[in-house]
Amino acid sequence: MFNGNGPIAWRVAQINERVNGAKAQDLYLYLQEAEAVDGMHVTINGRKMLQFASYSYLNLLGHPKIDAAALAAINEFGSGTHGVRILAGTIRLHNELERTISGFKGTEDAIVFSSGFVCNYATIAALVGRNDVVISDKLNHASIVDGCLMSRAKFVRVDHNDMDSLEKALAAVPDGKGKLVVADAVFSMDGDILNLPAVVDLCNKYEALLMIDEAHSVGVIGETGHGVEEYFGLKNVIDLKMGTLSKTIPSVGGYIAANAELISYLKHAARAFIFSAALPPASVAAAKASFEVMLDEPERVKTLQRNVDHFIGGLQARGFDTLNSQTPIVPIIIGDDERAWLMSKIAQDEGIFVLPVVSPAVPANLSRLRANVTAGHTLAEIDRAMDVFEMAAKKVGLL
Ligand SMILES: *Cc1c(COP(=O)(O)O)cnc(C)c1O
Repeated sequence: MFNGNGPIAWRVAQINERVNGAKAQDLYLYLQEAEAVDGMHVTINGRKMLQFASYSYLNLLGHPKIDAAALAAINEFGSGTHGVRILAGTIRLHNELERTISGFKGTEDAIVFSSGFVCNYATIAALVGRNDVVISDKLNHASIVDGCLMSRAKFVRVDHNDMDSLEKALAAVPDGKGKLVVADAVFSMDGDILNLPAVVDLCNKYEALLMIDEAHSVGVIGETGHGVEEYFGLKNVIDLKMGTLSKTIPSVGGYIAANAELISYLKHAARAFIFSAALPPASVAAAKASFEVMLDEPERVKTLQRNVDHFIGGLQARGFDTLNSQTPIVPIIIGDDERAWLMSKIAQDEGIFVLPVVSPAVPANLSRLRANVTAGHTLAEIDRAMDVFEMAAKKVGLL
């Protein structure tokens, strides 16, 4: 068995030392096992806590219509498929889901992948290659970064939400090269919103293709939760609208909504679509039912947006730095890793399930609690969480 020295062993040891250090101080908070999940409550180690780390922004996880759709799909089609979509894996539900998504996003067609991560990775790698340039915001999701690297296109990272930096990068692309601009609509660690109108203008000016990741945008922003275009009052200005089926939509999978040519291309060129199994029937049916519930129950989006305002306003009034968040992802900036762990631990001891995000996921001096508010919280529950965060911040000397 391998038990050596050298760079691989060093890399393994380095991470494990950090993990074991946190465990030794009883400050290791990752990979905790939920014994029960009930709306915005989670039971861990026999203790029921209020959930403030969920991506179920519209509280659709456990919705009876969605669960019923998943069960019915298993009854009809079983637990899996006969393989990859392009060969024997496509069932009626896949095509129904893709039509539902393209209808919701206002595009001609859509393609679903087995996860959001795979969707970004495979789509970017299929669209650009050696002779192209891909331009990516510095705070884009890891799956975008990996897709850009995988594509072997020239990979240009631009300053976060900085339109001068984006224009410089676009202007510097030599004639004749393909240009793809890719960005999150809502940034997944800071909770701020991309300046989409300016990005669209620049993409038009420099004739670049535009791909936007709406993982935290669909169901969240825009008057009726349709996402970033609705938020800015724009229609069909994005070439590829990417989203996940694992956040607002309580299932698994990722999608691209786009025109028919691009979707047909991806169905025959994206390697993770061609060489990886189709999504299972239950997940597909649950995702489709979730879009229908979102449209049937529009008050969920209103409640979410009210809760976001209450939460961010309340935290700022208490003196916390929440960066430029305008969404349910609310960073509570702490600074150093140690206090981020400690504050999360104190909050969990007080019954609020919140998690720290530390380097390298965020810059070392911007360690934080990453608190997520949802439509499933009452105002009183949000107040209770904020009281706990304030108490914990005073204990660790942050406030
Ligand atoms: C979560 C996330 C993804 C990945 O989606 P999964 O379906 O969980 O694989 C991609 N992009 C962003 C911005 C995300 O937050």
